[in-house]
Order: sequence, then structure tokens, then C-alpha cells
Amino acid sequence: MLFKDIPGLHNLKNTLIHSVEVNHVAHAQLFHGGVGSANLALAWAYATYINCEERSVDGVLTDHSNDACGRCASCVKMAKMVHPDIHHIFPTPSAKETILELLPTWRKFLIESPYRSLTDWLEFTGVTGNKQGIIPIKEAHNIIEKVSLKAFEAEYKILIIWQPELMNIESANSLLKLLEEPPAKTLFILVCNDTNKLLTTILSRTQRIMIPAFTDEDVIGYLTEKQGVDVERARQVAYLSEGNLSKASELVNYEGESKHIWFATWMRSAYKPDIANLIKLADEYDAFPKEYQKGMLEYGLNIFRDLLLWKNGAEALVRLEGEELTFVQNFSKAVKAEAIELIVNELSQTHYYLERNGRAKILHLDLSLNIARMFKK
Ligand SMILES: [Zn+2]
Repeated sequence: MLFKDIPGLHNLKNTLIHSVEVNHVAHAQLFHGGVGSANLALAWAYATYINCEERSVDGVLTDHSNDACGRCASCVKMAKMVHPDIHHIFPTPSAKETILELLPTWRKFLIESPYRSLTDWLEFTGVTGNKQGIIPIKEAHNIIEKVSLKAFEAEYKILIIWQPELMNIESANSLLKLLEEPPAKTLFILVCNDTNKLLTTILSRTQRIMIPAFTDEDVIGYLTEKQGVDVERARQVAYLSEGNLSKASELVNYEGESKHIWFATWMRSAYKPDIANLIKLADEYDAFPKEYQKGMLEYGLNIFRDLLLWKNGAEALVRLEGEELTFVQNFSKAVKAEAIELIVNELSQTHYYLERNGRAKILHLDLSLNIARMFKK
């Protein structure tokens, strides 16, 4: 992964490149960005850049100084993530799978696309069952120990920790010890989505780099150039994905009927209630891609919030048109405000469980039955 392979983010890339050029590489850095952002890709490009052999000759920068060369022995190994001086810590699906065993799968996952979510990764491992993702304590500890040894080939030894949020106190503490007395020429890159879940002691010892979400233009560029999507479709998807490249790729790969039609059918079946159809819809829902399943609930939340506004006379705030507007008008007459509030709660709770890998089909059917009951209130 080179900087130029990552869409947009020019200022941020320049800042990272500059820190290497002027020899101000902080030994512990926190790449903080949302799901589907460039945080992991940038960590990879940065590590590649730092250890590129063609970047400078005897301390003098070469023509390649604005990116790694992509050709030297170090870059070639970095592209495959097999460099002996790069170490990885990442979550595994359960305590049974070790980081070492999953390393080849992890490399494959990264090479396919480094913009994906924890859920994507856990699914990619092919391990079935209820997966949360854990960082194995003992193994993380061993890897951290290994990093204190001298580099084999490169100038820097680099440890990339993906999802450090999932480290337990014990592994976080062994990392902390190392961050307090860092070995020379060692770089720790913590790649996280949510800093609230990190120990403050870790936060205070890292230099935080905020990775903004991709812009719509970045997403459109990525989809058209790397995935061969036509501009019109790329534009729609960019709008829906809000800078989340993982979501954008999933949406592009899913050619379903429009969200509103499906949602309206669902709500009408719950209102009747038509249990047989609700069961059928739960099956359909189960077959949707994960991002689309979540998207449907988010869409529902927006619609019910609009319903509430409508009922409270804030019609002007509701920015809907066409069928969606008719839907809100009709349902606002039929459903009580208290029921809407309860439904909003149900929807966000289901979203919460879905994110934590609950079974989509069961969650959806439960939700449908609850909504049907609330409509009757
Ligand atoms: Zn190179």
C-alpha cells in the first residue's frame, strides 16, 4: 500500500511524509478514524514509506520522497505484508484462533481491501458462531515482547495494532510498559475506531492522528477507478455511504430494490399484521448484506423520527417527497406518538444487537412482532 493508492487526504499524507523527512516520527501514534475510513490503509502506507530503501540515499531525499518507491526489497515485502520487521496484533474470532494462525488470512484480507470493518474481518476468517472479536492476551504479550528485539532488516520495527479497543487491561498494560520506555527505532501504530474505549494512560502516551472520513468525491473516485462502477451509481452510493468506504463497496455490490419499497411493505405487513408475510420478510432480510441490513434500520429510524415531527406539527422540518411523504402522512394518522417512540427504541436496540453480530433473521422477526404490537397500542 502506497500513499497514492489511498483516495484523497492530501494534507494528512503530506503531514505524515513530512514527519519522516524531518525525522520527527513519534514512537507511538494513534490513527483514529471511523469505520470504513483510511486509518488502517494509512498505517500501512506510512510503515511502507518509513522503511522504503529508495526514499533517501545517505540521508538525502530522492525523487520518490513524496511516496514509497513500491519496488525496493522492503516495499515488495510490505506490499505482501510479509516484512520481518512488521508485526501485527488484531482481534481473532474467539480464544481458539491465534493471531499467528490467522496471519495469512489477515494478509489476504488487507490486500483485498484495508477499508473494512471488524465485522467484515470476523466474517472473512470463516469462523462461524457468535463472534465478537478478542485480542488474545498471551499472544499479544509475546508479540509485544518480540518488538523489543532489534530489527532484522529495516531501520524501524513497526507494530500495527488494529482495534486496540479490544485489548483487555492485561495486554494494554504490557503495551503501556513498552510505550513508557520505548526501545530505539520502534514504532507503534494503534489503529482505532473509538478512542472512548481505550485506557487514558494509553491515549496520553500516543500522538493522535485524526483521520477524517472520505469525501463524496474520494468515494466516487475510488468506486469508478478501482471497482469500475459508473459515475451515476457511484454518486448515489457515495451519498448513502457518508465517507465509509467499506459501506460504499458493499452497497455497490448489492443491487436490491429500493429501500423505501421494501420498508413500506414491511411496515404495512406489521400494521395489518400479516404474520406469514413478516416471516417471509425476515428471510429476505437475512439474505441482505450486513451493511444493507443496518442501513434498513437506520432508514426506519429516520422515517419514524420524521413521523414524530409530523405528528407534532413540525411538517416544515420533514424533508421528504413523493412516496415517502405519502407514507409518513398516512402512518402519522394511524399511529400514536407513544407507539412511535417505542418503535424508535426497538429499532435502535435491534441495530445495536445486529452490530454485535446477533442473528439477523431472528432479530428482524422479533422486531417485526414488537412493532406489530406497538401499532395496536
Ligand atoms: Zn521502496
